[in-house]
Amino acid sequence: MNASTAIDTAAIRAALPSLSRRVHDDKSMIYLDAAASMPRPASVIDAVRAFDEQFPANVHRATHQLASEATQAFESARGDVARFINAASPEEIIFTRGTTEAINLFANSWGAINLSDGDEVLITAIEHHANIVPWQLLSQRTGCVLRVIDCRDDGSVDAKEAEAAITDRTRLVSITWISNALGTVVDVKAIVAAAKSRGITTHLDAAQAVPHRRVDALAIGADAMSFSGHKMFGPTGIGVLWARSEMLQGMSPYQGGGEMIKSVSFEGSTWNDPPWRFEAGTPNIGGAIGLGAAVQWLEEIGMDAIASHDAAMTSELVDRLSHIPRVVLVGTPADRSGAVSFNVEDMHHADVGMLLDRHGIAVRTGHHCAEPSMDRMSVTGTVRASLGCFTNSSDLEALDTALRRVIEVFG
Ligand code: PMP
Repeated sequence: MNASTAIDTAAIRAALPSLSRRVHDDKSMIYLDAAASMPRPASVIDAVRAFDEQFPANVHRATHQLASEATQAFESARGDVARFINAASPEEIIFTRGTTEAINLFANSWGAINLSDGDEVLITAIEHHANIVPWQLLSQRTGCVLRVIDCRDDGSVDAKEAEAAITDRTRLVSITWISNALGTVVDVKAIVAAAKSRGITTHLDAAQAVPHRRVDALAIGADAMSFSGHKMFGPTGIGVLWARSEMLQGMSPYQGGGEMIKSVSFEGSTWNDPPWRFEAGTPNIGGAIGLGAAVQWLEEIGMDAIASHDAAMTSELVDRLSHIPRVVLVGTPADRSGAVSFNVEDMHHADVGMLLDRHGIAVRTGHHCAEPSMDRMSVTGTVRASLGCFTNSSDLEALDTALRRVIEVFG
């Protein structure tokens, strides 16, 4: 057990089979790409396999035992997710393909009805493309306008500046909680409170928050929130849009098809209740069941323990990188979590990433689907090391050693 944390990283690592992979001439693999996708715990793999092996039937429709087991497991996963984020009820949880689909759903089902010509959507300068492009697409249809809260040079977002950016035309504040590219933690509670006091709707991109801290939908006060299964130790192809039930009641369907209707005739159709109104067609049943197992796994470790472990590891990572000659951190916000971006003077980020990979160190390079953040930091891309509750000091030491070697030999 690490002295600075209350979690047992050895036990956590033992539960994550992909971490014991060996790569490139039998080197141990050091996984520092957690912000892109977390490794999958054995319990999640087992839960998905149980669905595939024992009750691979469709949900909500049939009367036979397998279908009822599938339905029960699917709906119970919805309950797990609702409990995990302290939603008012499981019916506030809509299963989607991931954060991207969740935001597109929200933009189409809420935005298309509630935003018209000249209405403003406020985002920050450090959003993932998933919280930029859906609003640009909507703006082409409705004439709504995208406004951007700038960040400081260190990549942090000033809550006061965010408040000052609100105008009489602001109808939606849709902001990231934690930046995947710079690791910035945004003071979403203060910004949501400022928006709410003016009656403005709020949505949070919580994709990078859910794996690192306790996310309490009721306490944070937002109206809607999106996140992805694979970033919180669940499967790919599953994610969540959470929204307060009053909002969901007023939203129109995102896609049409089976299950989202109450009745259909050639003259017209009527809609099912939320959340099923927004889940047209056969959903990713195994993915949802896996997400339920991921949530249980995180709850067993404890989100508060995870938060303090991740904070300790993040500051160790920042500290180590700051002491390596020619390494320049990109984004140095005081409040940060999980991800650290950097460049090496006179080396291209893609080369650094590729050379680190030869040492068995898995990081990500490029613009991290956050091109405006890169522009704001005056870089074309970065190397990003990102961690999770399984990360230990030896991982960070291995990165430190390999990076010094890469710079010495190739730099
Ligand atoms: N928002 C943030 C902050 C992210 O980190 C990501 C994934 N990198 C997304 C949105 C998009 O998530 P997904 O690709 O799972 O839909």
